[in-house]
Amino acid sequence: MMLLSVENVAASYGASQALFDVSFQIDEGQVLALMGRNGMGKTTTVKTICRLLPVTSGKIQFAGQDLARLPAHKAAQLGLGLVPEGRRCFTNLTVTENLTAAARPGHWDQGKVNALFPRLAERCDQSAGSLSGGEQQMLAIGRALMTNPRLLILDEATEGLAPLVRQEIWAAIASLKQETGMAILVIDKSLKELRQIADNAAIIQRGETVWSGSINDLNTDITHRYIGV
Ligand code: ATP
Repeated sequence: MMLLSVENVAASYGASQALFDVSFQIDEGQVLALMGRNGMGKTTTVKTICRLLPVTSGKIQFAGQDLARLPAHKAAQLGLGLVPEGRRCFTNLTVTENLTAAARPGHWDQGKVNALFPRLAERCDQSAGSLSGGEQQMLAIGRALMTNPRLLILDEATEGLAPLVRQEIWAAIASLKQETGMAILVIDKSLKELRQIADNAAIIQRGETVWSGSINDLNTDITHRYIGV
């Protein structure tokens, strides 16, 4: 069943248009990799989905509702769980406080987040600002899970992290997919890991979807042309 549908979406930062024609779909339980070179509009696309930026034309439907017709707080309550680029935890609050501040009723609670990321359990009384970059990323994912989203959106969740921590985060994302069947939109530069986790991919170039389909059909011609790998 379709969960998110982005149809011919355009969006601008003031006078500067960043998205021209973005389209893709995510079904319940599916993982979509949103790909493209730097500055092509991936973050802008997720900002637009999460209503941090208005849609100037096109349509975004989530869980059967037209997002543009809903007030922003109602849209968030429908179940969009964003892990923004750059993490953004409350650095002066503890791990537990960060998690409980985000909590909404559902499957995910602090115990489940701690089971997914045991390092967070060990540091529950530590301030978020004193965590390592990888631990802060785990906390940012944990916070989004505590909202019990229907779609988890991960914007560069492994960027700048050491290889071992990246592996831990990829393993957690894989277990979310396998064990809870959560739908996930993931932006990342690592094609190898994306291939292991994603069902589908959409590639954006200069604010336009230039390719979308099953990630198994993403061949080297396409990745050379649009992603440069
Ligand atoms: P990256 O991988 O570098 O994060 P991206 O694909 O996520 O790239 P976006 O951040 O969505 O790209 O940027 C798309 C375009 O929008 C770029 O041309 C960028 O300069 C522009 N842009 C992004 N944020 C703003 C902003 N706050 N104000 C004006 N223009 C912006």
